[in-house]
Amino acid sequence: MSTELDAALMIGGNTRAAVDGRTFTRLNPLTGQVASIAAAASVADACAAAEAAAAAFAAWSETGPNARRALLLKAAEALTARMPDFIAAMAVETGATAGWAGFNVTLAASMLREAASLTTQIHGEVIPSDKPGCIAMAIRQPVGVIVGIAPWNAPVILGVRAVATALACGNAVILKASELCPRTHALIGSALADAGFPAGVVNVITNAPEDAGAIVGALIDHPAVRRINFTGSTRVGRIIAERAGRNLKPVLLELGGKAPLVVLEDADLDEAVKAAAFGAFFNSGQICMSTERIVVDNQVADAFVEKFAAKAATLVAGDPREGKTPLGSVVDPHAVTSIQALIDDAVAKGARLYQATPTKGTLMSAAILDHVTPAMRIYGEESFGPVTTIVRVDGEDAAIRAANDTEYGLSASIFTRDAARGLRLAKRIQSGICHVNGATVHDEAQMPFGGVKDSGYGRFGGKAGIDAFSELRWITLETLPGHFPI
Ligand code: NAD
Repeated sequence: MSTELDAALMIGGNTRAAVDGRTFTRLNPLTGQVASIAAAASVADACAAAEAAAAAFAAWSETGPNARRALLLKAAEALTARMPDFIAAMAVETGATAGWAGFNVTLAASMLREAASLTTQIHGEVIPSDKPGCIAMAIRQPVGVIVGIAPWNAPVILGVRAVATALACGNAVILKASELCPRTHALIGSALADAGFPAGVVNVITNAPEDAGAIVGALIDHPAVRRINFTGSTRVGRIIAERAGRNLKPVLLELGGKAPLVVLEDADLDEAVKAAAFGAFFNSGQICMSTERIVVDNQVADAFVEKFAAKAATLVAGDPREGKTPLGSVVDPHAVTSIQALIDDAVAKGARLYQATPTKGTLMSAAILDHVTPAMRIYGEESFGPVTTIVRVDGEDAAIRAANDTEYGLSASIFTRDAARGLRLAKRIQSGICHVNGATVHDEAQMPFGGVKDSGYGRFGGKAGIDAFSELRWITLETLPGHFPI
């Protein structure tokens, strides 16, 4: 059954409305006009997706690696071919610039190509057994149905990441779209359908915001679903991990962040400023790896802040559809309220604010808060907006303490001209990812991506992804008569 919805459900190879015909609406954050009308799945639809995926899994898990590779490569092309659709959908649903949308499609296509290359890298081993004549193997097998839950902020990258390696490993998948960008996430389903995956191997569910708990809960509880991966906030990650835990199902969690960028006294300040500006303000700071806390040695702090404020003054926000400004809109008016509250609290407690232009509606230009202290809310809370903080310290031990003084641990950076010092200190940073002389925002399909502490656990990307999306089994073959004690 076809439908006129901007985002329909994709279940068992059919693109269709919700079983009870319900829909929900996503508004353009900038204009308040309707951006998309999407199917509001019911629990029955979610269960239908799990059952369709389970039915498709039997044949798909037996499909050879070269056939899986060919489909994933086609999917990369199909995704790229839809670049203009993605740019248009992301502009109206999330206020993203064309630059951010284009980067999303390019990296997501590269994730599909990387997943394609993994299909012949799903290795096992033969392990020496103490039992005479016993050949013992560790082999990796597909898991079954895997649910991937993706957020809105990097919607193509994170929607594709939620399913690509899972498909490469021979699993059937359900992509649970974000309520903030149902059309963008449904486009991923369309691109995968264009590539020709068999019916039911890829399913997409969109749901009304008020149904998220029930839909996600039903998917986690469904007996056909064997693993879950979730990218989103730490708050929701905890709910999902608890539900998965009750079901004894493994879950991969990629959650919030508060990435520190450390500027030591021997840093190249121009390089540090470029990386800090990109890391803090690309996509208006709405990236899990966004530079939220810049820890600067007092010896260079004034010089750094002067250069950084000058750079930030050029980073103004505007309508992404006009394409004239480096920053677009933030995701919705609620985000403006919560980001502004963090700024106001810091200023009231003594921080100095630099901001290119005042906030207008959902258009927020780059902002820097200098002299931030632990007493200010923004010191600890993820802002997820175009504002970053400067924390001034004396010496490298204090810098590492300030970098680690957060419940999060996703990405981090250190700027120093001494490479050995940089590597030494990188080991002391409590994060899944740390770059020496690079931005905190850096993602490549083949890298082990993931966090520690409240940023979650498990790794996407490259070979680490194979561990996440396959089951390691021990299988033996006896080649001699058995000897048993009883
Ligand atoms: P969110 O946690 O609010 O929503 C994500 C998903 O959770 C949505 O699909 C939603 O349907 C679902 N959800 C909401 N309530 C639920 C409930 N009660 N039970 C089950 N599921 C529920 O996150 P968001 O606002 O969409 O994304 C922003 C967050 O994601 C930020 O914290 C950001 O740092 C994080 N993020 C992390 C990474 C990473 O790789 N670590 C990447 C991007 C974003």
